[in-house]
Parts: sequence; C-alpha cells; structure tokens
Amino acid sequence: MAATAAVLAFLACGRGEQPEPHSGAGIPGSAPAHVASHWGYDADGPDHWADLDRDYLTCKSGHQQSPIDLPSHARLEPSEHITIDYHSVRGLTLLNTGHTVQANLPAGNGNRIVVDGVPFDLAQFHFHLPSEHTLDGAGTTMEVHFVHKSAAGRVAVLGVLMQATPDPSPFDPILTLAPEAVDAEITVAGPVDLRALLPGVLDQFRYQGSLTTPPCSEGVSWTVLGTPVPVAAADADRYRTMFAHSNRPTQPLNGRTVTLAGG
Ligand SMILES: [Zn+2]
Repeated sequence: MAATAAVLAFLACGRGEQPEPHSGAGIPGSAPAHVASHWGYDADGPDHWADLDRDYLTCKSGHQQSPIDLPSHARLEPSEHITIDYHSVRGLTLLNTGHTVQANLPAGNGNRIVVDGVPFDLAQFHFHLPSEHTLDGAGTTMEVHFVHKSAAGRVAVLGVLMQATPDPSPFDPILTLAPEAVDAEITVAGPVDLRALLPGVLDQFRYQGSLTTPPCSEGVSWTVLGTPVPVAAADADRYRTMFAHSNRPTQPLNGRTVTLAGG
C-alpha cells in the first residue's frame, strides 16, 4: 500500500518533496528518508528526469510511457468503452503544487469510472499546458487529467483535451480561483458539476501507459476522450502566467495497441 500511496502522491504532480516510495521511512534501523529530487520542465525537464534521481529511472528505461500521440485510425472497439459516473461535488480544494493546479476531492465523493468492470474512485484532477496527448500530431491549449484509484490500488487516468475559446467555459470557477502562490490552497465555495467538464461526445482512446511526471511509473490505464472541451482563452492565459509550459513530450508506442471506443 505504501507504493500505492506514493504513486498517487506523485500523480498529484507534487513538488517532489514527499518521502520517496522506497525510502524505508519509519522502519527501525533503516537509513533516513531522503527527499525526492526536484524536477521541472526547463533545465530539469523531461530529458533529464532519469538523471535527477534513481527513482526516476523508469522515465528513461520504461517502454510503456505516457503521453502518446493518438492515431485517429486506431482500431474501433465499440464494446470496450469505460463508464464515467460523475456528478456534482462540494468541497473541492485547489492546490498550487508548483507543477500544476490540482483539485482535490473529499474522500467518499462518489465520483468514479468503471474500466473493464473494475471501479476506480476519483481522487483529484489537475492541468497541463499545452496538452500532453496529441491527436494525429496536433496538440491543444491545455489538458485535464482526472486521476482515479481502484480498491486494489491500481491507477486509471481520464484525459480530456481543452481547446481555447473566446467564450466562458465550465472551467471558469476553477481556473479563475486557482491560487498563484506555490503550496497555497483554496476551497471552492459552491458545488462543481464534474459532468459539465466533459464533452458531449465520449469517444475514447484507450491504452496502457504511465504517469507523465516523475517517477513515470507504468501500469496506468489511460483513457483520453477524442473530443476536446472548451477553455476560456483568458483562463488559459492566466494559467500560462503561473505555469508557462508543463507538458512531457509524446513517448514512443513501442508496439502498444491504442483502441478507440465509441461514446
Ligand atoms: Zn497529469
């Protein structure tokens, strides 16, 4: 379970200040925990992650890494779509982690997805700018990752591409409130309808991948919706002043299959 908790902590795109997964912290006689190395998107960016800390080696040695370029000619698998069971939620807290703005959901919030019969509970969602996944080589303005965990500790992420629009968008209440100071946290006063954050058409690309941030752990079940949602250009511009760019480049498929399920 310790490893599972660590995976979720790192999925949170945290600043890398949590104890590392295999530090032995709390085990009598073990070496003191060392603090996981700082990482980022510039001089300490994706090309160097594996050099920053031994726990980040998978970022270089892994063969099922994320994000990827999604091919529109992916094999159609109409029977394998995931079920998205989202609704309105209260008590969202918005945290500036230094790498992203992360919306944490209260425990037992009831939002979940079902992947091949296995329920995964929604723990948090966060943003990247520009998008990490691309569609036939083209990226979008931003991308949101909804991060879920199963009872057995497996991780499933739902990715939604976000395209800038001059108009307001359902993300306004979140992105206009997002705290600018690192480690600052704000609670959203009213309810947020998570269904409004998804497109009306739920075509789904599915593949097996990894965390897109250190330690780049594999075994993550990815679903990326084929239809982008709008994000207000003003919100994206504000986000860009906080995080100028926060996307890992697309990674080789290495023979993996990408399937496309109709919505
Ligand atoms: Zn992410």
